[in-house]
Amino acid sequence: MANSKIEDLETILEINKAIFSTMETKEILYLIVKKISEIMQVTRCSIILIDRKMNIGHVLSTYEDPDLGTLSIDLKKYPEITRAMEDEKTVLIQDVGADPIVKEVRDNLISIGIRSIMVIPIHYSEKAIGALYLRTSRKEKRFSEKEFKVSQVIASMAAVALNNARLFNIIKEEKDLLEKMAVTDDMTRLYNHRFFVRRLKEEFKRVERHGTNLACIMIDIDNFKNVNDTYGHQAGDVVLQEIARIIKRCVRETDVVARYGGEEFAVILPHTGNEDAVNLANRIRNAIKKKRLDSLGPDVSITVSIGVSTYPHPEVNNMDDLIRRVDDGLYQAKSQGKDVVISL
Ligand code: GH3
Ligand code: MG
Ligand code: MG
Repeated sequence: MANSKIEDLETILEINKAIFSTMETKEILYLIVKKISEIMQVTRCSIILIDRKMNIGHVLSTYEDPDLGTLSIDLKKYPEITRAMEDEKTVLIQDVGADPIVKEVRDNLISIGIRSIMVIPIHYSEKAIGALYLRTSRKEKRFSEKEFKVSQVIASMAAVALNNARLFNIIKEEKDLLEKMAVTDDMTRLYNHRFFVRRLKEEFKRVERHGTNLACIMIDIDNFKNVNDTYGHQAGDVVLQEIARIIKRCVRETDVVARYGGEEFAVILPHTGNEDAVNLANRIRNAIKKKRLDSLGPDVSITVSIGVSTYPHPEVNNMDDLIRRVDDGLYQAKSQGKDVVISL
């Protein structure tokens, strides 16, 4: 008896240490189910995250099968878990053969040899979000008072581990979102100007280091002011989104498409020479010209003017030179009557 008490205490201390260590949540949860299984001789011990809306449980960790991925269970088949989640307290079924809670699934439990079940809710912000789920096939011994108590303590430790993981995930998701917001243009979902400059700098350096090449194209919608004046600013926004989609569809996965300004777009084309860049620019120009803008009315379309510049080039010494040349190309395209590609 004294020995088993010490064993319990050691287990609790070990789990506690793991929670405050740098161990992955998955490892901590596995340590928990493993330890419980060892000290209680349960047949199966799992930690389950509950999705009440979908009425399913995600088995996060289970002893006997450490490699089990994220298995999902249908809670309809586990009335004892449902009960524990609803009441937010431990469900202890000492005799599966007699307890009304498992009436519907009794035959199945008996057929796989389960005698007793304990479900202990795991809380997060005072709400039950998961459960420690223990099942045993022990013939004589039911769950003892001591086992019940130790399980409660261990479940609260699982709660700490899970809460840490959840907090971590929430923080990470927010960080990812912020990072994404900082580089994308809300309206078109393209990269923003800031990101474009950052990437162009990197690509420029890469060319200098590895002796490859790059091209940059700048696209400006022709007479866009007219679109706004005729159809309204909101209709103009829809057109900008449509143009963004067309450009994206024309380029390669590795090309960087950005909204450079109001109705101007820029594309970085790594590993691309002048001829290929001009061809691509014309493909974009034609694709836009061909597109019927149904949101504006039947048979309405618009055109774009495009400037192209490439690096290396004898007159390009830095990134600003490159941007200046692409801008000059665009300016010339406009003065030549628009709907044209000019490469400098
Ligand atoms: P050009 O052929 O010379 O480029 O003529 P343009 O009318 O396209 O050029 P201009 O620079 O005179 O006008 C640009 C217009 O683009 C005016 C501005 O209201 C519109 N614009 C800029 N950003 C947005 C936007 O986010 N939404 C909408 N709807 N319009 C925008
Ligand atoms: Mg413009
Ligand atoms: Mg314009």
